[in-house]
Amino acid sequence: MTFRIYILFLFGLANTLGLAFTSSQLSWAENIKANCPTPALERFLHHQVKQGENLENIAQAYNLKPESIIAMNPNLQNSKLAIGSKILIPPYNGIVVEVPRGQTWQQLGAQYKVRTDVLFELNGCQSPGNLAFIPVVNGKPHRPTIAKSGDTRNQTMQMGSYPLSTPAKLALPYGWQINPADNEVFFHSGIDLLANQGTNVQAIAPGTVVLAQAQGSYGNLVIINHNGSLQSRYAHLDSINVKVGQQVQAGDLLGVVGTTGAPNLKQPHLHFEVRSRSSLGWVAKDPKTYLTK
Ligand SMILES: [Zn+2]
Repeated sequence: MTFRIYILFLFGLANTLGLAFTSSQLSWAENIKANCPTPALERFLHHQVKQGENLENIAQAYNLKPESIIAMNPNLQNSKLAIGSKILIPPYNGIVVEVPRGQTWQQLGAQYKVRTDVLFELNGCQSPGNLAFIPVVNGKPHRPTIAKSGDTRNQTMQMGSYPLSTPAKLALPYGWQINPADNEVFFHSGIDLLANQGTNVQAIAPGTVVLAQAQGSYGNLVIINHNGSLQSRYAHLDSINVKVGQQVQAGDLLGVVGTTGAPNLKQPHLHFEVRSRSSLGWVAKDPKTYLTK
């Protein structure tokens, strides 16, 4: 793995140097970007599971560690590979992380103990976006450490209720998804629950409202902090019924379902997220595991 990164780095370096001699039309930054290897995040493949295949032999076929495949397919962990199912194959051993706003490659490199130039090259030779591919350097993916406060997952599972007043159909699950419109792979940081416009949206657990306003593609968004180490987020709301600083209990009305912002689905739905505090910021988790029904 280290060797492969090294090769990639040399390749990129050669490109960069070669370009310095061949083109004077584009700016230095444009040159670098235009001649950068395709970003790792755009080089994921889909593998359809065939008879006789398992995690180990698929990983072997792609020269990857099984953990790298599990990291990209969080739903695999507890289930066997079903024949015909599709799994995402990363181009290298590594993990995908959400990048807190304003973080630099230098900071991310220090955090994950990966060379800054390697991160830069692998991620398209540009400033960090919302997501970054972090290659594995010393065997194990170096996950950010979760703030210590006991097993936060169990805490919330005990108190987690449902974010809607009535059980709803799961329209889009958490994790890597393929957009049927353009076949592009994207990371869905929450779950989409289909519900009629105006359906009550309620807090899944006691906590404090830390945001209650329109927020870009989320539309009208409510964020609740629970115990300081977990957050729940409720997006695309039609209207908001709570204020920042307000204490809420499980089941309290936060607002109603709407279509504000830039939802992935056209039909009214609740985009619901659970995030856990890490040294890199609030990391999206699979909300399904935090809900009791
Ligand atoms: Zn969504």
